[in-house]
Amino acid sequence: MNTPWGYPDFDAHEVVHFVSEPESGLCAIIAIHSTHLGPAAGGARFWHYDNPSDALTDALRLSRGMSYKNAMAGLALGGGKSVILAPADRQKGPELLAAFGKAVEGLGGRYVTAEDVGMSVTDMVDVRRQTQYVAGLPTEGSDVGGDPGPHTSLGVFLGLKAAVKRALGKDSVDGLHIAMQGAGSVAGGVAMHAAAEGARLSIADIDAAKAKALADKVDGEVVATDDVLFLDADVVSPNALGAILTEESIARLKTPIVAGGANNQLATPEDGQRLAKRGILYAPDYVINAGGIINVCTEYLADGDASLVRERIEGIPTRLEQIWTESAASARDPAAVADAMAQRLIGRG
Ligand code: NAD
Repeated sequence: MNTPWGYPDFDAHEVVHFVSEPESGLCAIIAIHSTHLGPAAGGARFWHYDNPSDALTDALRLSRGMSYKNAMAGLALGGGKSVILAPADRQKGPELLAAFGKAVEGLGGRYVTAEDVGMSVTDMVDVRRQTQYVAGLPTEGSDVGGDPGPHTSLGVFLGLKAAVKRALGKDSVDGLHIAMQGAGSVAGGVAMHAAAEGARLSIADIDAAKAKALADKVDGEVVATDDVLFLDADVVSPNALGAILTEESIARLKTPIVAGGANNQLATPEDGQRLAKRGILYAPDYVINAGGIINVCTEYLADGDASLVRERIEGIPTRLEQIWTESAASARDPAAVADAMAQRLIGRG
């Protein structure tokens, strides 16, 4: 969309808040992309940016992704996201988190926060000191809520299996080689599911200790972060950060499938076309990684139990199938098909 703001990632966001609170050191951006389907929901990322304008880019892109993700998961939620700029020492105290909660509270429920990269369930408890508009809290006797990571992992694993079925005609990942980028919360869960079904895992993380710990758990091997995307494997599963699928990296991929939970994997929309031209089946990120927000939504709206969460997560492969089928019929790549479906759902199609 052309706007006077000059930010290429601005996409008719309803509002973008710049927050600062000098006492606690809080510096954050809260971006609300759409409230068409309900309150804008999406996690808070705690990350150190060398260039603060990268934080804005993240907030704009991630919040739009949440609108699309929530719509495609059939949730009564709009899309938003916040980014807390981590100081150089990457420390976050309870006061900073409470100040962030106060900023969320000030939006009166138009934005609902939860965990994202760098934020934990415990952090959410500090955020809750100042706001009721928060999910991903400790379960406290309920069977929904808590860390969204395992739910995201389950959805990613089921989506990855759907891709394996479609591209390789196999019902199981038994004997397949999966190249796993990242060894954090989502990657860890996907790796455990895949290993339990007999897959072979190659794992890379910039935190070498995390990569080794996960590889030890799943009897996998640690590989270099520069190599993991380009292994001669069956599936690349990106579960770290975004913009890793570029003209250069796509040209070097050797797998027939890319299916992972990281947000914003495509550096540009053209990269979706590049994957399709190379015959690589891509699972659009915000569709395959909706498991966590499904759990968060069920917790926040208090409209179901763990079995409903599971049922909703099990809908992810069906949604992916719809996208791949429409993509095959229309010659548009899966990411473009998913975007068009999501835009229709949020009233912008
Ligand atoms: P996490 O912080 O637990 O793990 C991320 C891991 O990626 C870390 O171990 C980090 O060291 C590693 N990493 C960073 N840059 C890397 C690189 N260049 N190469 C290899 N490893 C690298 O975060 P997470 O919760 O597992 O989230 C992973 C991704 O999934 C993110 O893109 C996140 O936005 C997305 N996601 C997470 C959830 C969730 O429920 N946690 C839901 C949807 C999407």
